[in-house]
Order: sequence, then C-alpha cells, then structure tokens
Amino acid sequence: MKKHNFSAGPCILPQEVMQKAAEAVVELDGSGLSLIEISHRSSAFVEIMEKARSLALEHLGLSDKGYTALFLQGGASQQFLNVAYNLLEDKAGYVNTGTWSLKAIKEAKIFGEIVEVASSQESNFNYIPKGYTIPQGLDYLHLTSNNTIFGTQIKEFQKTDSTLVCDMSSDIFSRQLDFSQFDLIYAGAQKNMGPAGTTLVVIKDGVLGKVSRKIPSMLDYQVHIGKDSMFNTPPVFPVYVSMLTMQWLKDIGGISAIEEINDKKASLIYSEIDLNPLFSGFAAKEDRSNMNATFNLTDATLKETFDQMCKEANINGINGHRSVGGYRASMYNAMTLESVGVLVDVMSELERKA
Ligand SMILES: *Cc1c(COP(=O)(O)O)cnc(C)c1O
Repeated sequence: MKKHNFSAGPCILPQEVMQKAAEAVVELDGSGLSLIEISHRSSAFVEIMEKARSLALEHLGLSDKGYTALFLQGGASQQFLNVAYNLLEDKAGYVNTGTWSLKAIKEAKIFGEIVEVASSQESNFNYIPKGYTIPQGLDYLHLTSNNTIFGTQIKEFQKTDSTLVCDMSSDIFSRQLDFSQFDLIYAGAQKNMGPAGTTLVVIKDGVLGKVSRKIPSMLDYQVHIGKDSMFNTPPVFPVYVSMLTMQWLKDIGGISAIEEINDKKASLIYSEIDLNPLFSGFAAKEDRSNMNATFNLTDATLKETFDQMCKEANINGINGHRSVGGYRASMYNAMTLESVGVLVDVMSELERKA
C-alpha cells in the first residue's frame, strides 16, 4: 500500500508523474527507445529540455521577461558556490536563516567579503529576521525563501535595490510571488519538482559578466546559457521528471491552484499543533512554513506510542532533522490534503488515548 510520504527530500511526487516516468524509462512515447538510452542531442530530448525550461519560466511568470532557465547538476549545494563564483566581486550580503544559509555563506566566503545582514541563529533559527538594514554596495543579497530543516518561510520579501539571489529549493512552485523581484533563483529538484540530480537556475539578463575572475566552463552560467543548458550531457532523467511535474502542475491550474491546497494543508496541521496540548510548534507562528511543519511532543514519554500509531497509519518520513529534533511533516505540492488529514487524525487520536 502506498504510504503517506512526509519525507523532506527526496520526497513525494505526483503518482501519475511516477507512472509516466517509469514508462519512459522502458520506452519513451512509442519511440522504441528508452528515455535514458537516447542521445541528449536527439530532437526528442531537446524538446524535453526546452519544455522544462519554458514551463519553469511560465510557472514563475517570467516568460519573455528577460530571464533564462537552466537545469544544472550538483544540487543546490553546487549553486552555493556557483552564485559566488559568478556574481561576487567584493562584497555580498547573506541573511542567515538556517543550515542551508550557513552552507551558502561558507562557500561564498572563499570569494569575497560576506556581510551577515541578519540572522536568527541565536534562537536556533526558529524565526525569520525582519526589518533589517541592507547595506549599500553589495554585489548581491542572498536569501533562503524556505528553511526546510527549521520550518520557517519568508512571507514578505523586503524591498531592495540590491541584486537579489534566492535559494528556493524547498518552496519553488508552491506559492504565488512576484518572481521578477529576484535576479537569480535556484532550486534543487528533489524538494518540489522532481527526483534528485538536477537544479533549476533562473537568471535575469544583465546580472552576469561583472566579475573579473576567470570562471571554469562548468561553473560559468554564461557558458550554460550559451549552450541552452546542454553544455555537457544534462541529467536526462531528472530533467524529464521535473518537466512532467511542471506539466502536472500546469494541468491542475498552476501555482495559484496549488497554493490554495498548500494553504489548506498548512492550516490543517498547524491548527492541530496549536489546539492539541500534546504538541508544540517549533517555528514562530508568523513565519511558519507551508512546506515543512516542525513540531514536538510536549510529553516525550509519548514518543513510542505516537511513532507506533504513525507507523500503523502508513505515515512515512516525519522524524525531525537532528538539529531540531521532534517531528517534521513536509507537505510539498504532490502531498494531498487527505494525507495531511491522516496525520492530523493520528495526532488527535493520541490526545484521546493519552
Ligand atoms: C535541500 C536543500 C539544499 C541542498 O540541496 P542539495 O541538492 O542536496 O545540494 C539547499 N537549500 C535548501 C533550502 C534545501 O532545502
């Protein structure tokens, strides 16, 4: 029986996408060939890559707005490095909202001065800093829109004249935003878009070419743009599955439709966390992530019982990250409201039992 999969990443994808992906591995669209044995230069795959790139821009409302979408390898972690390599000449600002921000800062420090513009590290990243001053003269400001591990999410993006870079790995395509406020967006596929193995990078025209260092080809965004995201063999399977997921999202009504469902899922679980005395939320209420809900048992002795009940209800992947503890329910786009309902039922059942 299919489990209710709350895994933080790699994570749930739409069942019909899995099905189509499995079929394409055997045979792509009646071609007599598998998706993973054809040339990436074949017209069949070039079409897949172009569709993936254009769907990404379309979902973000950035088609014909001077942006380019790439599907690269190396995960979001590679982008921690690439962003700095391509954009950092002297000084960049980073808002430190968790483990992933810290890792991005660590890589960027290799290339220049990093100003930690704001941080919530002093309280184990349980909130999003707000109302901070953004210094003048930054090469760029780097944000993490959703903190997968801590369960916090930026709800309002501060206005800035700075070049704005955002790691959207865990909430890309989950909510409506004015994406044109960003100059560079990146997102590892395996949180809300596809299987591990590719990373979407969306870059606005005009932000590149300003650093004086020589950039190795594989790290150079301009090289990848010049080759239509096909500088070398792209990760054909993850790109294909990401394309299918974006097509699925389009077919069900796009980001506005999924946002409505995501809001319902989030309010369902957070209201249970707030009303049930056996649970307490980790993140500050106003900053709670719609993608990753972090919470604890108020009575640790109930852990075994709760874990057993979850197991019996076919719930998978809700253990919290080691740096937070407790539980984390990840509710990406493909997760249904019904699955969240199953978890919430188990939580309220625990209260009745205890
Ligand atoms: C998972 C994650 C990453 C790291 O992604 P990799 O693909 O494993 O390198 C970076 N940033 C955020 C916000 C994440 O959730």
